[in-house]
Amino acid sequence: MHDIWKRMLDGNERWLADDRAAARRMATVGGQAPSAMVLSCSDSRVPVEILFGKGVGDLFVVRTAGHTLDAAVIGSIEYAVGVLRAPLIVVLGHDGCGAVAAAIRMVDEDVAPPGHIRDIAERIAPNVRRARAEGAVTAQEIVGRHALYTAEEARRLSVFPIPAECTVAARYDLAGGTVTAVLQPV
Ligand SMILES: [Zn+2]
Repeated sequence: MHDIWKRMLDGNERWLADDRAAARRMATVGGQAPSAMVLSCSDSRVPVEILFGKGVGDLFVVRTAGHTLDAAVIGSIEYAVGVLRAPLIVVLGHDGCGAVAAAIRMVDEDVAPPGHIRDIAERIAPNVRRARAEGAVTAQEIVGRHALYTAEEARRLSVFPIPAECTVAARYDLAGGTVTAVLQPV
């Protein structure tokens, strides 16, 4: 057995001993009613449930590099909104985002990352251009704008209506651990 997998299973064993998690598992085994749907970056430093102090059954989470949208992500959002009736949609970006950095590099230097990572950068690049056209200068400002535009696009593409007031775009600070809502302008 792979050493890392072994340690992951050890972690699962420890989690089984957590009475609160066990109670939440039992309470939600019959169905889920998450209080929010969160679309965040896959970055391992952005552990969504942990940073919001949430656990089993609380959040319906979709994570892609750079919280990029594709048909499967939109379908997941539609499921959360239209089927699970999640009352809040949160798009969470973060400083130091490698996906956004790759998109900035694509825009500035015409350098494309390899393989399907290119697809991610290509989906973010229009938001980099738009953010700059609307006054964003730093990578952090672009990250905030990208979250905002992603939330807008999710609302536009979802076949189930998502009211603007039920959507939050936010930025997570890796070092400080704080989450800040992104408002217009950055
Ligand atoms: Zn990221």
